[in-house]
Amino acid sequence: MKKISQEAFAQFVTALIVSERQVVGVQAKDDRFAFGPLEQAADLRLDYDVTILPPKNYVLPPRETLLTYEVGGTYNSMIEAGPLVLLGVHPYDLVAINQMDELFSQDQYDAHYMARRKQITIVACDVAMPSKNVFASSMGTAVVDKGYDILITDVGEGYVLDVATDKGRELIALAGPLPDASDQDLARRQAVQDKNRKELNRHPLECKPSYLPKLLERAYDHPIWEQKAQTCFSCGSCNLVCPTCYCFDVQDDVDWDLKKGCRWRAWDGCLLENFATVAGDHNFRKRRADRFRHRLYRKAKYVPEKIGGQIACVGCGRCVGACIPDIANPVAVYNALLEDIGMD
Ligand code: SF4
Ligand code: SF4
Repeated sequence: MKKISQEAFAQFVTALIVSERQVVGVQAKDDRFAFGPLEQAADLRLDYDVTILPPKNYVLPPRETLLTYEVGGTYNSMIEAGPLVLLGVHPYDLVAINQMDELFSQDQYDAHYMARRKQITIVACDVAMPSKNVFASSMGTAVVDKGYDILITDVGEGYVLDVATDKGRELIALAGPLPDASDQDLARRQAVQDKNRKELNRHPLECKPSYLPKLLERAYDHPIWEQKAQTCFSCGSCNLVCPTCYCFDVQDDVDWDLKKGCRWRAWDGCLLENFATVAGDHNFRKRRADRFRHRLYRKAKYVPEKIGGQIACVGCGRCVGACIPDIANPVAVYNALLEDIGMD
């Protein structure tokens, strides 16, 4: 654990920006916040509440070319990744990236995702300002003790840095020698994390997250899916803003002469009407209620079955704010189910 003053931290960020790496950090965007390429240290905001979009587009771009090909069987895999530093990732977004790391490296190893991910150094930061819809405390994602290269905690007169990996050590070397954090610094850091563990909870979940897969086992035919979906626009905003939604569609563009083409993928969303349309124009999830249910089953049943019980909702609260008819809040649905069918 190291300590760095605010001035020295700003110098460190400047050194990063002029290095060979691409540096992305949280910045103000009108009255909200967004991740974006950082041009000067003064633009970095570690006191933000939540960003409009999570940093997932840096690990999984909204659209990317996977390969190009030519008649005759030649093809080129397009794997392009350079060193990138993500500055200011909140714990819940970090958990989401770590979940994607597991999902993209098991079964079908995704060479494109993993090549990019290996080049990324994550400088996470503890939450300094709770957002109005966060419920990370309920989901166990308000604080983290692993998964980052460096974790920053604002302790009032400077930052405590937990430098956890070789990538983190290589990065922080740009700041020159730093003093160890004192006992008082560590106590302040602990106080920030204890507070966040309890208080990032605008929508408290009435059970432990680990109970959700069991709850959903008994809720498949519950009327709530139909009720909630009645006002759903199928706009997909809840998927778009979600740090754990990673579904994509793969398509081919073939040149007019039919001699070459490229294969690309782009984000998709399970709430969109054509998400489940397959050959023959058959849509196996045509009903809005089925799509609405699928999203919440995916978060709390299907993904946990793949990655050791981890719930694929990290409580960032973005979907709550993004949904115009106000039906996307997972906690509202899970709590209503708990109230109606109880715990067994
Ligand atoms: S489901 Fe909503 S609250 Fe949960 S991680 Fe996704 S956007 Fe955030
Ligand atoms: S739940 Fe809300 S955000 Fe999601 S698709 Fe329906 S209307 Fe859009």
